[in-house]
Amino acid sequence: MPELPEVRTVANELNKILPGLRIINGENFMPKLIWRNKENDFFDKVLDQKIISVQNYGKYLIFNLENFKMISHLRMEGKWSVSSKDKYVYNEKHLRIEFELSNNEWLRYYDSRKFGTLEVWDNKSYLKESGISNLGPEPLNNNPSFEYLKKAAIKKNVKVKPFLLDQKVVCGIGNIYVNEILFAAKVAPDRITKTLGDKEIKNIIKFSNLILTKAIELKGSSIHSYKSGENVEGQFQNELKVHLRENKPCFECKKPIIKTQIGGRGTYFCTECQK
Ligand SMILES: [Zn+2]
Repeated sequence: MPELPEVRTVANELNKILPGLRIINGENFMPKLIWRNKENDFFDKVLDQKIISVQNYGKYLIFNLENFKMISHLRMEGKWSVSSKDKYVYNEKHLRIEFELSNNEWLRYYDSRKFGTLEVWDNKSYLKESGISNLGPEPLNNNPSFEYLKKAAIKKNVKVKPFLLDQKVVCGIGNIYVNEILFAAKVAPDRITKTLGDKEIKNIIKFSNLILTKAIELKGSSIHSYKSGENVEGQFQNELKVHLRENKPCFECKKPIIKTQIGGRGTYFCTECQK
């Protein structure tokens, strides 16, 4: 599943092409893609709108239009591309919605698993009404403060891994990066949040920033067939210290990396380095 670095990479790639272009036509091939907006209402809003920019908030991709926000969640396998009318960057069978643009190119969304969502809100209501309305602070956009995270850790009192994966606590961290962040912060994934020391909380914030920033520089991780766009292959998978390294020696202490399940998610960590 694309996480914050991969979605930021998609936004960066689309920002090279889309700003200034107008959406002149569109067709949806997957009714349930349009979330909380009736399909006709959706097209009434986005048609004729100029695209100002594309950004991300956590795992959400936001197309800033003149009067609206078009908000996409890629879920498992969603992919955006821009190409000419007859050129399909991904498998045409997985095409779910397409928009004709004012430069005669087509903005297309593909989704083999059909879990993705798309919603449109006006510039005033999106923060209250859309899927992003109840998300926590995002490490790279409005970094969670130490005081905020400490208070949440005491209040929630759960294992630290599901705590950091809870998008209402912090948004944008997913399974790959939480494994890496906890290794860097030397915190075991099953530690109960109220036992975390101040230094450990500060390290979690610090390494969330460092690791997500580095992953964006490397255009995300290309695993599970994820590609952010045409000819863009992420390279962060080469930087992984624990994720997918079961039984391989820890880079710090040489003990084998352990794989377990926490909250139903594959969890990789070093029992020596992470306490
Ligand atoms: Zn170790």
